[in-house]
Amino acid sequence: MSCLILAEHDNSLIGPATAHVVTAATRIGGDIHLLVAGSGCANLAGQAARIEGVTKVLLADSAQYADQSPEPVAELVAELVAAQMARYSHCLAAATTTGKNIMPRVAALLDVAQISDLVQIESEDTFVRPIYAGNALTTVRSSDAIKVLTVRMTAFAAAGESQAPAPIESIAILGTDAGAERKSKVISRQLTQSERPELGAAKVVVSGGRGLASAENFHQILEPLADRLGGAIGASRTAVDAGFVANDLQIGQTGKIVAPRLYIAVGLSGAIQHVAGMKDSQVIVAINKDQEAPIFQVADYGLVADLFDAVPALTEALGRTGSGVDSS
Ligand SMILES: Cc1cc2nc3c(=O)[nH]c(=O)nc-3n(C[C@H](O)[C@H](O)[C@H](O)COP(=O)(O)OP(=O)(O)OC[C@H]3O[C@@H](n4cnc5c(N)ncnc54)[C@H](O)[C@@H]3O)c2cc1C
Repeated sequence: MSCLILAEHDNSLIGPATAHVVTAATRIGGDIHLLVAGSGCANLAGQAARIEGVTKVLLADSAQYADQSPEPVAELVAELVAAQMARYSHCLAAATTTGKNIMPRVAALLDVAQISDLVQIESEDTFVRPIYAGNALTTVRSSDAIKVLTVRMTAFAAAGESQAPAPIESIAILGTDAGAERKSKVISRQLTQSERPELGAAKVVVSGGRGLASAENFHQILEPLADRLGGAIGASRTAVDAGFVANDLQIGQTGKIVAPRLYIAVGLSGAIQHVAGMKDSQVIVAINKDQEAPIFQVADYGLVADLFDAVPALTEALGRTGSGVDSS
């Protein structure tokens, strides 16, 4: 039994999601091989090799993997697994945008079912995943020879990155055809540049909803609080749909899943689709003028107040006391 993990990266750094997937793989047991498929990414292998639990790094360095286009990467993973059928029993990636783009293709190429968004691993063939927007958990047993899995990163702690480096093996690019005409190709990529911590990895998230009433309010009210706490900004879908912020900040069933140490929900009602993305936060604070708002049912601390008074007052009080949260 052994696991093949697809590493997430931007050709210069291994993304934080990968270390969480490695922890999930350690629950399965056996060897853990980490595949780094990218272009000009040889320097990543050293970082990958130090993630605790990884027993070997496989490096596939080729221009066709430069932009993490799903088709060539999925073909590589499937061919690697198929070529070493006796070796790999599990193939894993994070349930992030990248993982969700690639792994269903891997499962289809291998003709097995994918099991998505795992939050628990009971044994080598039995996994727990949320359904109905996180309102129920289902236990799934797979009889497929190869288990293709995506892992919810907030459900597993990140593996450390200080082991003695695992061996690194450069792999041949197998049967993948670099010049092949693909059904889809990446035309361009726009990366959001932000000074703030990445939403999925932030220790503090300040999140706003329709109650902010405008994009201008959203920025003027929430950003000083997020700055004070060294936190990331998140939003409800309604706030995104209203154009207050870009949709990569949406939290929830159809947005990002976060589990920070502190989640401050401001002027959002706490619809089940939103709660599905933040309910595993360690401490939840809600500020809402409606005491019946469902967000208070999941909040550890609730303040029934007008956000336009409460949030600036809170920001100012934190400034006076010099309080903040260690964002490291
Ligand atoms: C299939 C599907 C998927 C979805 N996925 C997501 C998702 O991923 N994420 C998501 O967030 N939603 C999602 N939704 C939408 C979700 O159902 C809700 O419509 C949405 O979360 C509501 O956003 P909101 O809380 O900002 O707005 P509202 O529900 O309108 O809540 C606004 C809140 O602000 C409060 N408020 C107003 N003014 C003030 C003030 N001055 N001071 C204090 N409080 C104030 C109000 O009391 C109210 O509670 C999805 C829906 C569907 C059907």
